[in-house]
Amino acid sequence: MTSSAPASTKPGDFIRDIINDDLAAGRHDKVLTRFPPEPNGFLHIGHAKSICLNFGLALEYRERLGSGSRCHLRFDDTDPAKEDTLFEDGIQADVRWLGFDWDGLYHASDYFEQMYDYGEHLIKEGKAFVCSLSDAEIKEYRGNVTTPGKNSPYRERSVEENLDLFRRMRKGEFKDGEHVLRGKIDMANPNMKMRDPMLYRIRHTAHHMTGDKWCIYPMYDYAHPISDAIEGITHSICTLEFENNRELYDWAIDNLIEYAKFPSRPHQYEFARLNLNYTVLSKRRLLELVEGNHVSGWDDPRLPTIAGLRRRGYTPESIRAFCATVGVAKANSIVDMAQLEFCIRDDLNQNAPRVLAVLKPLKVVIENYPDTEVQELDAAYYPQDMPKEGSRKVPFCKELYVEQDDFMLEPIKDFYRLAPGKEVRLRYAYCITCTDVIKDADGNVTEIRATYDPETLGANPVGRKVKGTIHWVSARHAVDAEVRLYDRLLSEEAPPAGKDSEFLNAVNPNALQVLTGCKLERSLSESKPGERFQFERQGYFIADEKDHKPGAPVFNRIVTLKDSWARSQKK
Ligand code: ATP
Ligand code: MG
Repeated sequence: MTSSAPASTKPGDFIRDIINDDLAAGRHDKVLTRFPPEPNGFLHIGHAKSICLNFGLALEYRERLGSGSRCHLRFDDTDPAKEDTLFEDGIQADVRWLGFDWDGLYHASDYFEQMYDYGEHLIKEGKAFVCSLSDAEIKEYRGNVTTPGKNSPYRERSVEENLDLFRRMRKGEFKDGEHVLRGKIDMANPNMKMRDPMLYRIRHTAHHMTGDKWCIYPMYDYAHPISDAIEGITHSICTLEFENNRELYDWAIDNLIEYAKFPSRPHQYEFARLNLNYTVLSKRRLLELVEGNHVSGWDDPRLPTIAGLRRRGYTPESIRAFCATVGVAKANSIVDMAQLEFCIRDDLNQNAPRVLAVLKPLKVVIENYPDTEVQELDAAYYPQDMPKEGSRKVPFCKELYVEQDDFMLEPIKDFYRLAPGKEVRLRYAYCITCTDVIKDADGNVTEIRATYDPETLGANPVGRKVKGTIHWVSARHAVDAEVRLYDRLLSEEAPPAGKDSEFLNAVNPNALQVLTGCKLERSLSESKPGERFQFERQGYFIADEKDHKPGAPVFNRIVTLKDSWARSQKK
């Protein structure tokens, strides 16, 4: 594995304890993990947690133990109806963008031939049978948590008959649903997963990797342990909802390991999946948002997909840092979105240059400033207390823009910005005093008249105190831009339980607000797609990867400067 990514999760979690025990006891001398997405959608931040854990472990143990430790990327492509190479490409791009690289790219479908052969072996051993009940009957026979299931009437078919039927299933002699291959385990097992689970089903559907070669496909619970074992995975890490599947995982391995001569005896360990409030982390729901055109695509910056977070302006470092702070635990919990926002703020605070941008412009004319004069003022990209250097010139002239919100005709108490007769400092420039306002026919202020004090460039005004400092841009030099203000996807912490698409009611209608005619300082005319800035007093922004063009800038708000959500919720 080649990666510059740092260790991604906190050392000392229970998974690392298990691995260290295994190494100490000599059960393994290397660590092989895998990240096994189903290529039926794009990855989300929950997957990032699993990626950081699996790839992070291989990196760490490779450093400790030498080259044998690896992490595979394996597409769990056992359901041909929902899967696509388009998703595989997206997933690979996302893993790489997060800073990881795989030691091998595999597909569960690489092993279809072996899996079929193992199916025959299980039949010969009396451990599997072909069942001809319908899906509905199988469900009915299964019983429930309090009632044991009933044996299928086909359970006692002879080995010969089972082999013949299974071979003919493969040949395509039957229709979808006519037969399935089932494990012969125990219909009264308290673990429902062990009640003669389905191993193979018939699907006359072309597969994006194997084409028309197969019309029977293995079930996840059968394909997953076999894929792990064939690849020599040592620690098969998945999320808690697979806890009940572990017994079946072990059943498959234990019944095949001798025959198949697997290079390792993998074990499954479950950790808590990432849950985040104010968003959805389920591929099904994300798909619904995308396909229902509630968002612009899988990379819509409102979405918690890796592609969406990237376009929103999150850095891979911030996502890895987030996964590290979340840690790896055995109990489910809900992580506050503010924690993710903290991580990107923390990163950008160190790295994003500060610039001036006026999002809702209000014109200011400085009456005592010479008509044609332009002063080039020094403006540092970073605050003084940061170990970063760099500056640019910002032009100052008679006509400027300030933020509409920085002016009040009738200022409320403690409003230290612009108002008639009030003085304010312009960042990196002079103090100005509002002398007059111009209104339109409806009484809206359309322009401010002001005077500047030439003695106040880099110096305090004499004999008076000016409390407020506001940002501004030169009207003659400003670059017009579209700015997209993004906010949280949901306006409620958790989407209402109950019917599936009811979560759509919780989608925040203000999660995207598009502003046009925003005024950016001159230096931003040279910004390139993907460049990030702090717009002073406003937040962190990125030049949109897709829509930003020189001469027609488009910026996305990554995150506000402070956690304004908590405050606005309190109001
Ligand atoms: P979803 O539940 O969103 O449909 P999934 O679990 O079906 O996702 P897979 O493609 O099967 O998605 O997941 C690949 C890996 O990522 C699995 O090992 C899964 O356990 C892990 N994973 C998925 N969601 C999360 C999450 N929220 N937190 C941590 N790991 C996750
Ligand atoms: Mg899954």
